[in-house]
Amino acid sequence: MLRIVVLVKMVPDVSQLRFNPETNTLIREGVKNAINPFDRRAVEAGVIMKEKEGGQVVTVSMGPPSADEVLRSTLAAGADRAVLLTDPAFAGSDTLATSTALSMAVRRLGFDMVLGGVSSVDAETSQVIPEIAQLLEAPLVTNARSIEVNGSTITVVRDFEEGTETYEVEPPAVLSVNEKINHPRIPSEEARVKAVQMPVERWPASSLSSDMSLFGASGSPTFVKSLFDASYQRRPVIFDGRNDLPSAASKCLAEVGRLLAEAPSEAVDMSRATEPKPVWVVVMAGSQEARTAQEVMGKVRGLGLTAVAVIAPDVVEDLVADSAKAGAEEVLRLSVPSGTPSAFVDAMALRQAIERDRPFAVLIPSTVKGREVAGRLAASLRLGLTGDATDISLHRRGDLIQVKPAFGGSVMAEVISKTSPRMATVRPGVFPLLSFAPGQPSVRSLETKPSASADAKLVLRTVRMGSRGGDLDRAKVIICGGFGVGSLEAFQSLESYATGMGAAVAATRKVVDAGWAPPQAQVGLTGRSVHPLLMVEVGVSGSANHYIGLRRARLVLSVNSDPEASSFRYCDVGLVSDLVPALDALEDGLRNLAFSIERTK
Ligand SMILES: Cc1cc2nc3c(=O)[nH]c(=O)nc-3n(C[C@H](O)[C@H](O)[C@H](O)COP(=O)(O)OP(=O)(O)OC[C@H]3O[C@@H](n4cnc5c(N)ncnc54)[C@H](O)[C@@H]3O)c2cc1C
Repeated sequence: MLRIVVLVKMVPDVSQLRFNPETNTLIREGVKNAINPFDRRAVEAGVIMKEKEGGQVVTVSMGPPSADEVLRSTLAAGADRAVLLTDPAFAGSDTLATSTALSMAVRRLGFDMVLGGVSSVDAETSQVIPEIAQLLEAPLVTNARSIEVNGSTITVVRDFEEGTETYEVEPPAVLSVNEKINHPRIPSEEARVKAVQMPVERWPASSLSSDMSLFGASGSPTFVKSLFDASYQRRPVIFDGRNDLPSAASKCLAEVGRLLAEAPSEAVDMSRATEPKPVWVVVMAGSQEARTAQEVMGKVRGLGLTAVAVIAPDVVEDLVADSAKAGAEEVLRLSVPSGTPSAFVDAMALRQAIERDRPFAVLIPSTVKGREVAGRLAASLRLGLTGDATDISLHRRGDLIQVKPAFGGSVMAEVISKTSPRMATVRPGVFPLLSFAPGQPSVRSLETKPSASADAKLVLRTVRMGSRGGDLDRAKVIICGGFGVGSLEAFQSLESYATGMGAAVAATRKVVDAGWAPPQAQVGLTGRSVHPLLMVEVGVSGSANHYIGLRRARLVLSVNSDPEASSFRYCDVGLVSDLVPALDALEDGLRNLAFSIERTK
């Protein structure tokens, strides 16, 4: 009998949110709320497991009384019991305060498995589930695409940037699921009527702890200093190529070239630290992690801070020379006596080193593994953590401002930590890889002794050849194929077309679902957010769920045979044409543009 607790969050429909530049706030009036799409899949995963193995599914949410509706939808989808943590004391909770309240509720309920969505589409931190695992002292696997229970073993396959990993874990365990885990059922009318009659329990903060300082704003070690608008305002210019394609294509390219020439280069941050405080940049095993750490080191140096490369225990290569070239002035190599490497071991080794040296800040790559390490570490030290920062800068009083997208990239939030060291995970590809004159960084070693834990056991790792996830984070030019491309073969031709001009390839969800492209290539609400200078969309209808992922693309060129397609409403430049002749007509011009973008920006 499995006791499954599923954590769910009520989120606004981020595609409807607008920013008010006068008040610097989001306009929420009239915006519908719904269950976070990943959490809906977590509920379905829990219900499927219950149906197979027996047991009970309890859904838990923290939010205002109106979140009742979301919990009721989980009862209609097959949950047995629903609990809403609702109390004014929870208002203003950041990631840690939220994780604290939810983990206390889970403990009170008792559990064999905690399930949640990999992230919420409004806050986009991916940190709550790792923090909860740490607070519950339980093994963790995030980003699961399948979960199988066999007796007392849970087998979890999860996606990571370069492929898939299979883990085995014994209950109790904490798991987060991604978009691929299932297609949630549509509840029957009978189930909906039954759910209306079922109670949603309301638990106040006092039912979890007598210490109210753990919750809400007082229990939150980070605060949002300000919000600012991050999306580009687009004024579509559409060229109709149905009668004279060569002429329309050449006008289209000229317009793209003109807009690109007007686009400002990336802003250069000029504020520099007056004292070189140490910032630890964690270097973990994995090519995405190592490369991202190197990008971050250059940025830290540029701010006038001391970049310290902290090499995690499971890194086997000698990265001292690479780190120095990327900007590290010091290297701290962590080791553990023995044992299997895991995110838990990395986090606990880092914890001991931080307790000893107390750096100014700790920055960790925002990858699947990096987020597990960061969440565990932050929860264990009760530190503020900004998830998925896309920029860092210095406040004039010397504090570190961590900038992160929120609400589907419709706003950027500037976050400041009240605790020290400041902590953030940093998205891959947001800073250029800089090259410094090779120096001789001081190298120190520290043997740490992480406490033993029953962490999930990695049993298989499959690295996909030519996996494109990382490319998309860094690409300056992306060609995104939609279902209009027509077939797997046609999508493969599009890939050759794109790679031939040095562009990365992305896809819509429909294309990924059809198996023409890997999940890492999906752009949108439940895929990734990209920020190239030029995004070319071909055969894409332009749903809001897709468009959210390209709000931060500087320029969007859309090709579609349907003049009424929504993609023509959110692009900068559009070409109405069948995509095959259009791509031929655009090829030389696009290649030249891609080449000049790579050379100049
Ligand atoms: C909770 C949720 C989350 C979602 N998350 C995402 C997400 O992250 N990313 C995402 O992409 N989607 C997401 N979706 C799905 C999204 O709503 C759309 O269904 C999807 O993006 C449509 O994909 P498409 O544009 O490729 O296909 P279609 O909607 O089928 O559009 C194909 C387009 O191609 C055009 N076309 C056809 N033939 C040609 C031709 N020969 N030449 C030129 N044009 C042609 C058609 O006019 C049409 O506009 C999500 C949906 C939900 C409910």
